[in-house]
Amino acid sequence: MSEPRPNLVRRTPFPDSVSRAVVTPLQPSVVYASPDPDALDGQYEGRSHGYTYGREGHPNADVLARMIDRMEGGEGGIITGSGMSAVTATLLGLLSQGDHIVGGNQLYGRSLRMMTQDLPRWGIDATLVDPTDAAAMAAAITPATKLILVEVVSNPTLRIADMEGIERLARERGLILVVDNTFTTPYGFPAYTRGADVVIHSVTKLLAGHSDVTLGYVLARDAAQRKAIYDTNVTLGLTPSPWDCWMAERGLYTFDMRFERTQANAAALAEIVSTHEAVERVLYPGRPDHPDHNRAGALLGPNFGNMLSFRLHGGREAANALTRAAPLVAFAPTLGDVGTTLSHPASSSHRGLTPEGRAALGITEGFFRVSVGCEPLDLLTRDFTAALDAVG
Ligand SMILES: *Cc1c(COP(=O)(O)O)cnc(C)c1O
Repeated sequence: MSEPRPNLVRRTPFPDSVSRAVVTPLQPSVVYASPDPDALDGQYEGRSHGYTYGREGHPNADVLARMIDRMEGGEGGIITGSGMSAVTATLLGLLSQGDHIVGGNQLYGRSLRMMTQDLPRWGIDATLVDPTDAAAMAAAITPATKLILVEVVSNPTLRIADMEGIERLARERGLILVVDNTFTTPYGFPAYTRGADVVIHSVTKLLAGHSDVTLGYVLARDAAQRKAIYDTNVTLGLTPSPWDCWMAERGLYTFDMRFERTQANAAALAEIVSTHEAVERVLYPGRPDHPDHNRAGALLGPNFGNMLSFRLHGGREAANALTRAAPLVAFAPTLGDVGTTLSHPASSSHRGLTPEGRAALGITEGFFRVSVGCEPLDLLTRDFTAALDAVG
């Protein structure tokens, strides 16, 4: 007879403590045990608050959602597994076969793909329009139009949508206005308090801020729309991981400081880059030579953001020389990292377009987008000056 082994299957109770943890606990549990079926009824019927199954919601997602709610000035936002999950749950939750959607023509690439390639397979048509022109948006509306999807600042040319005109249009025509506020963040453009019906974020970018989580967020004003988006998110399984939520919460504690620092850096770097002879054009909404500077001032000022773009005089050779000369500025197709990243749309986000299609947007082989980070400005100045000098 061997000694009975200790019971390892039953969980050991978590120790009580009169002192509290300062840091939000990470709760990876997928399942939650209720005391009895009556209690479970109470949970499902909203008489008491309790979690049941991780795909339907969990505490780390809720902590993060409440933080972003406060930034947008709303209530009841939903965390999703990625920014694209937020777009997907919104569009599939709110649209049905036979509906029509009007979208900005320079939206995030996958959002464009969803509208032009996926939604039509499910009987939903999309028309893409320049969002700097509210009259063109109005002209695209049909009796079947149900929703408008726009981003405030376009990628990568940083054009500024006519948000006031589009908001008025949505009100007049009874359309749902969905704003993907990823580039602007709630501090650059408080989309919800400025009239958006639904606000979307890729939390992956500036909000989480460290390029180590993939998450999204959706905030809907109308309770029925909020429920439709939530149910679609749960049904499609676009579940956020508790770990990612915990990491994003951690990132948000420094959002305020990153926001101020990165946009101050971006404004200064735009000036520095603009004076270099290798550069043909700088695009930064805070500069008077930006095509939408007045609108940017009215909508965003003084928070012109951390994104800037520039065009070199040269082509691909010049682009290669620039990235090789600044190996410590990550050449990576993302944005919103705590450190500066450089993206080259012709070889990444916009590689699917023809050279003519890119040229129409002003995206040449010498075009770069910079997501400016929190580095000391003198370090950025040194790196970009060396990189631009190497272009010759
Ligand atoms: C990155 C991005 C998305 C998609 O977010 P993921 O978290 O990568 O899925 C959507 N919209 C905009 C504007 C983005 O920049």
